[in-house]
Amino acid sequence: MRCEILSVGTELLIGDILNTNSQYLSRRLAELGIPVYFHTTVGDNPERLKKALEIAFSRSDMVIATGGLGPTQDDLTKEVSAEFFNKKLVLHEESLKRIKEFFEKRGLALTEGNIKQAYIVEGSRVIPNDWGTAPGIILEEGNKILILLPGPPKEMIPMFETYVVPYLLSFSSGIIHSRVLRVCGIGESFMEEKVKDLIKTQTNPTIAPYAKEGEAILRVTARADTKEEAEKMIERVVEEIRKRLGDYIYGEGETSLEEVVVDLLSKKSLTISIAESCTGGLISARLVNVPGVSKFFKGSLVAYDNEIKIRELNVPREIIEKYGAVSSQCAMKMAEGVAQKMGTDIGLSATGIAGPEGGTPEKPVGLVYIGLYIRGELSYKELRLSGDRNRIRLYTTINALDFLRRGLLNL
Ligand code: AMP
Ligand code: MG
Repeated sequence: MRCEILSVGTELLIGDILNTNSQYLSRRLAELGIPVYFHTTVGDNPERLKKALEIAFSRSDMVIATGGLGPTQDDLTKEVSAEFFNKKLVLHEESLKRIKEFFEKRGLALTEGNIKQAYIVEGSRVIPNDWGTAPGIILEEGNKILILLPGPPKEMIPMFETYVVPYLLSFSSGIIHSRVLRVCGIGESFMEEKVKDLIKTQTNPTIAPYAKEGEAILRVTARADTKEEAEKMIERVVEEIRKRLGDYIYGEGETSLEEVVVDLLSKKSLTISIAESCTGGLISARLVNVPGVSKFFKGSLVAYDNEIKIRELNVPREIIEKYGAVSSQCAMKMAEGVAQKMGTDIGLSATGIAGPEGGTPEKPVGLVYIGLYIRGELSYKELRLSGDRNRIRLYTTINALDFLRRGLLNL
């Protein structure tokens, strides 16, 4: 099977961004034993894009295109591909549902353009996008295959690894098997740095890093004749990664940070309550995601106002006056106060400045303290986060759960 890569986007042609997608795809296709003979880059122009498809399919069996699946008028890859194959665009209900959920979750308004993203080429296979809005598409027409993927590498890479690689391997003998390691407490780039040499030198198994909602993920994928053989190959690599990342790896496979935390609470038979300021209940909501958490999670208090921190959580007024509500001292008192009020073994708290207003040079937006009380022992963690209000609250939530996880591991 001869493959070629078609990169779509005027921003690539004018040198605004580097075409990292074609490099990534070329490297991965080479590893998968699929020869790539051409790269083409074309702007967001329907005539030239159609011409590029004509040329590509005149010499290749499979074309993988990235970009142009966005919500705006100039994103035309799907429309032009449909026209090229004489097909209609049809609404894909499940994608529409996913897109709506994606926006609801982030509290954003859905636009006309986003609904456009739920349209797919008639008769094509949909590649779900768990990392953004635009679904990908696999279109088989006679002996030609067209695969459309979104432009942003943060969406393109995980979609390719999760859905396209297994599809491509169905054309070759042997099997593909992968394991997913979940990482938190360090950023994606720092994680990548720690295993960079492994990523670079490994061809089978391969190691693909990516980020998802504040967490970093490493997918280790092996190609072998049997599943057992692949598992053995993966195990060797995972062992090495574990040596490098240690307890930054919080879990494997289909799990979540909150599930791991609740599992630890259950193993150690400990109860918890939470005092939340800047997160306004987000940490509690994450814990409540886990069925059966009621045995361990007793309740939480959203203590937004200083008076509530003082009155309901017994934070001494002097502490707030001396150090401020966003301080390690206040965070620890909040954690202790909520544990005592609710009669739990553990108290967890978060207090910080989520912005956009309220920052000062000493206490900038993004400064957050997590407090932890475990059976008389107090500790805290200071975070200096960047980004908008939602991001700061999301990262505070993840860090709070991670801080709790580490506290439980060390018991
Ligand atoms: P699109 O799917 O065309 O809306 O692409 C959206 C964004 O994805 C662009 O603004 C770029 O930041 C990124 N992008 C698109 N194509 C590529 C590429 N070939 N390599 C790296 N980034 C890309
Ligand atoms: Mg574009």
